[in-house]
Amino acid sequence: MAYQYDLFVIGAGSGGVRASRVAASKGYKVAVAEGSALGGTCVNIGCVPKKLFVYASEYGHGFGEAAGFGWTNEGTKFDWSVLRDNKTKEIERLNGIYGNMLGNAGVEVISGFASFVDAHTVMVNGKTYTAERILIAVGAKPFIPEFQGSDLVVSSNEMFYLDSLPSKALVVGGGYIAVEFAGILNGLSVDTSLAYRGDQLLRGFDEDVRAFASEEYKKSGIDVRLNTGVDRIELVDPEDQASERMVHFKDGTSERFGLILYATGRVPNVGSLELDKAGVEFGKNGAVKIDKNFKTTADSVFALGDVTDNIQLTPVAIKEAMALIDYWFDGKEVDFDYDNIPTAVFSQPAIGTVGLSEQEAEARGIDFRVYQTDFRAMKHTLSGATSRTLMKMLVNNADEKVIGAHMVGDYSGEIIQGLGIALKAGATKADFDATVGVHPTSAEEFVTFS
Ligand code: NDP
Repeated sequence: MAYQYDLFVIGAGSGGVRASRVAASKGYKVAVAEGSALGGTCVNIGCVPKKLFVYASEYGHGFGEAAGFGWTNEGTKFDWSVLRDNKTKEIERLNGIYGNMLGNAGVEVISGFASFVDAHTVMVNGKTYTAERILIAVGAKPFIPEFQGSDLVVSSNEMFYLDSLPSKALVVGGGYIAVEFAGILNGLSVDTSLAYRGDQLLRGFDEDVRAFASEEYKKSGIDVRLNTGVDRIELVDPEDQASERMVHFKDGTSERFGLILYATGRVPNVGSLELDKAGVEFGKNGAVKIDKNFKTTADSVFALGDVTDNIQLTPVAIKEAMALIDYWFDGKEVDFDYDNIPTAVFSQPAIGTVGLSEQEAEARGIDFRVYQTDFRAMKHTLSGATSRTLMKMLVNNADEKVIGAHMVGDYSGEIIQGLGIALKAGATKADFDATVGVHPTSAEEFVTFS
């Protein structure tokens, strides 16, 4: 049977754009449907604008720290609308670049939300399109639990377009997004509390990293509240939707906040796709079920990125897209290695991590040893800040390979990328020791551990 397209991609986010662009550049007939802005979550309401906000908020600490280096600054002021609007202009510029990239590669961009008609047919704006293969790359969306007053909170989506910043904010959650936005708000001089239901923030990270980061967040000015749950939320003035919110905590206390951000996880964005019509089934946590070649339970339908139950990171979705293209068009079976994926949390201080945590290494029964240090980074000898840096490395005693590297401190995200290569290449402790340090840096501690 002849189809209109070789490939129809649903979702022009990180994974969808890469898959459609590369497939089209190989000569295949490709269309991509996108109901929102090109670039998906990462470009529009995720990694990119978040990082711009992080830079903005770092100045909030930087002006104070500059005094120790001889600078005086009086009358510094922050204007949220300038940051927000400059950010939006930059994102619009990127949207344009994505459009050009797709157009130049020969991808047909269809504006609208797609839903399935069958396993080879989708509908967008009432029009049907057939394709030999369909790729679901629709990503995920914020999850906010249902409770009394849950309509009075915002998700990370809204944080990028706030009319104004509150003087006092509550962030609920203890994952990547919660700690990153708590840092952003705090740096922008918002009185920020971070409420997490468990014993320690950032579940899944190395325990020492979790404890250390949590203390550093407190030092930076965030009011970190562990074992804290929200019972219900009400408007202070029931007649005024813009009035402050009264948060009633589970311990019986109540407190007013101008803004409440729920960063309580993300769920696959499959709502309107009508996947049942294509015979596509769901797996764990409502994610689209796929095999190792990203094939769903329908032979012609594939899925990758945050809509699946794999690791929710932009570079992972992009690499998955490349692996899928090789599988489709060059017949290479997918052998995606989800181990040793470096990642950074752009909290303040940032966290960088690659490989196993101490707890994961223990759970795997590995015989390993730990190298660990924490110190005051050179910059802070004059800045007056009391913040410290943590570095930790795990080495497998059986083969001397470095199996985990973790850092909390300035530039962690930048440093961990290089260590990611080392771990991927199977570097041993002796290889680290044989590497000459870059002096004076924090990074050199990773090659001087003894
Ligand atoms: P996470 O899954 O990382 O964290 C969700 C947090 O919300 C957890 O602390 C969780 O607690 C808590 N939570 C869940 N349900 C509830 C509830 N009902 N009530 C109260 N708290 C709740 O999700 P995020 O939204 O922070 O991020 C999603 C993913 O996006 C990340 O896993 C990451 O892969 C990606 N991301 C990556 C970034 C980066 O690379 N820098 C930046 C931002 C996001 P508990 O731990 O107890 O379950």
